Amino acid sequence: MIVLAVETSCDETAAAVVVRDGEGRGRVLSNVVLSQLEEHRPFGGVVPEIAARSHLDHLDSLVQRALDDAEVGLDSLDGIAATGGPGLIGGVFVGTMTAKAIAAARGLPFLAVNHLEGHALTARLTEGLAFPYLLLLVSGGHCQLVEVAGVGRYRRLGGTVDDAVGEAFDKTAKLLDLGYPGGPAVEQAARAGDPQAIKLPRPMAGKPGCDFSFSGLKTAVRQARQQMAAFDAQAAADLAASFQAAVADVLADRCRHALTQFEADTGQPGPLVVAGGVAANQVLRARLHNLAAERGTRLVAPPLALCTDNAAMIGWAGLERLALGLSDPLDFAPRPRWPLESLTGA
Ligand code: ATP
Ligand code: FE
Ligand code: MG
Repeated sequence: MIVLAVETSCDETAAAVVVRDGEGRGRVLSNVVLSQLEEHRPFGGVVPEIAARSHLDHLDSLVQRALDDAEVGLDSLDGIAATGGPGLIGGVFVGTMTAKAIAAARGLPFLAVNHLEGHALTARLTEGLAFPYLLLLVSGGHCQLVEVAGVGRYRRLGGTVDDAVGEAFDKTAKLLDLGYPGGPAVEQAARAGDPQAIKLPRPMAGKPGCDFSFSGLKTAVRQARQQMAAFDAQAAADLAASFQAAVADVLADRCRHALTQFEADTGQPGPLVVAGGVAANQVLRARLHNLAAERGTRLVAPPLALCTDNAAMIGWAGLERLALGLSDPLDFAPRPRWPLESLTGA
């Protein structure tokens, strides 16, 4: 089975062609991503109206490129997938309308894929991972720990009570004048810093349960910066490294609790899967890798290009659904909010 997929829920316009073979193995035939970074950079964040218009300008040519790269014609497709939410609604409209139009014109099934399910199932595309597994989903808009029991079968163990972790990286980068987007900038700056230079809190660490909180950490970074006599590149590097270490400590602590819960629920110690844009962070990956090893399981982290937003993950989630006989009506309404736990499987 082969699908064409589009992703337009935030600030990346993306298209991909993905295949699933008879044994359930996935292969990405093409995966093109056009970042709108430069269009949003002057505003220090994503401007929804600009994002939607940019998706509209670029999606058609990106779809053509994805088909060309894959050397696949519309005739060979078995379905068309698009992110149906959650996300910036103007962009989601552009993607779903485009996919619906192709599906209608070709008489193909349409798949409205939950963006978070795309992140959640990526490890099955890249590693053929079996259910169940514990998922740490960390991105710009989301931060949650989820038991993944099957396609459409998710149980949330905990999540952030305030900011998402990617958002905390982005805000910290702003506070430290490191620019936008924040995550990669903080990681880069932290390489030259001392993670123990500045004492920062570890919100929620040690508390029962699997919830997160990052707003206090962000405030502590602001205060630490204000208290510095001189704020130079070394100071920024030290604060970035200290912030990153605090985040890694908190995430590891929360994952430790979640792994205990997961083992009680499923009888197996893992695996632990990390997904979403923040999963690109190497310090975090190393930390979670050690935690998993300590707990007698392993960490599965998709390659960087499949951690941040892309259409291959949407295509794969669409294929998983199509293989179960699932598809969506052409009057599917895009959803700005769409929690994972509300999904249903076969
Ligand atoms: P959604 O939550 O809907 O998936 P999104 O588009 O923000 O939204 P992603 O593209 O998956 O999600 O992730 C982007 C986020 O990941 C940004 O907040 C960015 O700062 C963060 N990020 C990217 N690379 C790194 C990194 N190396 N270290 C830390 N954070 C990073
Ligand atoms: Fe995302
Ligand atoms: Mg993004």
